Amino acid sequence: MSDRYAVVGNPIAHSLSPQIHGAFAAQTGENIHYEKLLAEEGSFADFARIFFAAGGRGLNITVPFKVDAYHFADELTERARAAGAVNTLKKQDDGSLLGDNTDGAGLVADLVDNLGWQLRDKKMLVIGAGGATRGALLPLLDEKPQLVHIANRTFSRAEQLVAEFSVRGTLSAGGLDVFPGEFDLIVNASSASLGGELPPLPDSVIGPGCRAYDMVYGAEPTPFMDWARERSAEVADGLGMLVGQAAESFYLWRGVHPEVAPVLAGLRARLAGK
Ligand code: NDP
Repeated sequence: MSDRYAVVGNPIAHSLSPQIHGAFAAQTGENIHYEKLLAEEGSFADFARIFFAAGGRGLNITVPFKVDAYHFADELTERARAAGAVNTLKKQDDGSLLGDNTDGAGLVADLVDNLGWQLRDKKMLVIGAGGATRGALLPLLDEKPQLVHIANRTFSRAEQLVAEFSVRGTLSAGGLDVFPGEFDLIVNASSASLGGELPPLPDSVIGPGCRAYDMVYGAEPTPFMDWARERSAEVADGLGMLVGQAAESFYLWRGVHPEVAPVLAGLRARLAGK
């Protein structure tokens, strides 16, 4: 019998995780069953208890349950603790639940391994100070960038992250009005693109050879990607981050590293309707 895994969220119909994990399982020969499940808001703990009592081996957790999963886990990895959110639960041999956050590692794997965008000594601008930024900061700082400047519409949230994470690297905070010079890499970790909006960025943030990454993904480029491309930046969307975080979860559960590139290529072709 195959081992049971799932992604839980609300909404969940759009989730690509079953396709990604299905492709990883086919590629590695791991015998898993992975499905997407809807839970009602406010009912995560009940949902998870039933899922694991019925033999579930691992869960991916997406919006809006990542903080609930953080509180539900018996044990946390360092990156999950820093993120204050859990996107992966694993049932351990002793029956306890380990909570991890693989989003940031997925982002770094996409930037460094897939795209070849090295982060060491680079000046990075991260737009947004929500859950995605919080989840990404530790893995990003582990790459030893020269500076990570967090710019957020609500300045105090950027300031809060800088206060929490500055023991791990050089960080600064700002609003969306003043920026400290130009950058080598700009990561849009705001949800502006989801609403078809562009954070108000001046051209002066684009340094020579600048690269621009939007965590949002879809069939079309986002307004942020168009904006950056028009200013000669190399651009990428967040689909590779999605596959990367899934690969990290798969490794946590199965102890096997799947190959990301063919799965990413297949998914991209599918999103483009090819
Ligand atoms: P949150 O809701 O936690 O945070 C949203 C952030 O976006 C806040 O900083 C908010 O600013 C800012 N924001 C929202 N609208 C605008 C706007 N119009 N202009 C400027 N800033 C804006 O979301 P998450 O951090 O969880 O997610 C952020 C994005 O990352 C989402 O689009 C999500 O889809 C994507 N994501 C992608 C992943 C992947 O695997 N590719 C994984 C995780 C997230 P303020 O504080 O002022 O409200």
